[in-house]
Amino acid sequence: MRRRQFLTGVAATAALELTGCSDTSRYTEADVRNLAAQRKAEREASGTGPWGEQRYAGYRGLAALPYFELDDAGRLACTVEDLPPILDIHAHLGITMLFAPQPDLMAESDRVIHILDADGHDPAIPIDLDLYINANFREQDLEALRWGAFKGAFTVPREVATHTVPNLLNEMDTMRMQQAMILPVAFGLPFGDDLSDRFLTALESANAPDRLIPGAAAHHRDANAVEKLERYAKAGARMVKMHPPMGRFYADDERNDPIYEACDRLGLPVLFHGGRAGIEPESMHPYGVMRHYERALERYRGVQFVLGHSGARDVEDALRLADRHPNLWYDLHGQGVTVLGRMLETIDNERLLFGTDWPFYHLGASLAKVLLVTEGEPEARRRILRGNAARLLGLPDIA
Ligand SMILES: [Zn+2]
Repeated sequence: MRRRQFLTGVAATAALELTGCSDTSRYTEADVRNLAAQRKAEREASGTGPWGEQRYAGYRGLAALPYFELDDAGRLACTVEDLPPILDIHAHLGITMLFAPQPDLMAESDRVIHILDADGHDPAIPIDLDLYINANFREQDLEALRWGAFKGAFTVPREVATHTVPNLLNEMDTMRMQQAMILPVAFGLPFGDDLSDRFLTALESANAPDRLIPGAAAHHRDANAVEKLERYAKAGARMVKMHPPMGRFYADDERNDPIYEACDRLGLPVLFHGGRAGIEPESMHPYGVMRHYERALERYRGVQFVLGHSGARDVEDALRLADRHPNLWYDLHGQGVTVLGRMLETIDNERLLFGTDWPFYHLGASLAKVLLVTEGEPEARRRILRGNAARLLGLPDIA
């Protein structure tokens, strides 16, 4: 009974928001067309950029690149010798929603089932590094993803059970990665929205402060958002994730202001999920459009903002913000090598950050792309894989 009442509440909230969205400038016909055009153009141009064809047979297939091999256990392993202590700015642990039983975040398993489980199929799902990464999902994988999200409301899906601290550390070891920022998500639900606490508790018991850096999440629908942020900062959180599409809010909504003010006061950078991924429900698309992020960047110049996925499929709009907003950094996760190459040329690479969005994808997929586009540019490689993130978070350049 409680569950039904709750779900009705969620539906009512969603309906209210929809009717409240009479401002048509929030999401226009042009926005819809641009997304479709971006997807089509990227698909057609894949393989024709400076790096040519970059298609691999799953994550393990990346061993065909000179940076990786398969180790004795058959896992993808990075073999590059002279890497800095890599810092991943964008990783998560197992996420379930609503009344779900919680995954044991300290469990260890033989294999990580990534959300795009490229290696779990025979033949492996091809990974094209010249596409925005979620373009590698096939229709049946997306179907499974939606079903998984639904199932995740009631049970721990079998893949989520593998999104744990020891599994992440093992994968980081094979990828020669030193540190990862662990970001929860706040969905803005009336209850059951306690990922920040769960992740912080898991990281405390993991006792790997030199490897895993705690983050927090915030949503304005949480009346205690500000005091929670103060508590999370005290507990060691060093970054705040805000996810407009998942939380169904606009980044320029004034109700976020107390959160931005708190981040300013506490010296916490904000990582926004930025842009439209293209695979989320269409009802979430309006919240991801880049122009809705600008007010926050403009108004809170003391806050360092990171654009997750560099704006995902809205990357062109995202890149246009770089000159106007020196407090905007770019998480390179997801973009294909041609786009990354262009970003390195057009944005001062002091604001480019390495992110993986683990456990959606294998860490190696993001690492491979950064290694490819920084080939012969050791300074840019060092900055992107470590130096910039260390500066942003106030950590030593050498871990
Ligand atoms: Zn993420």
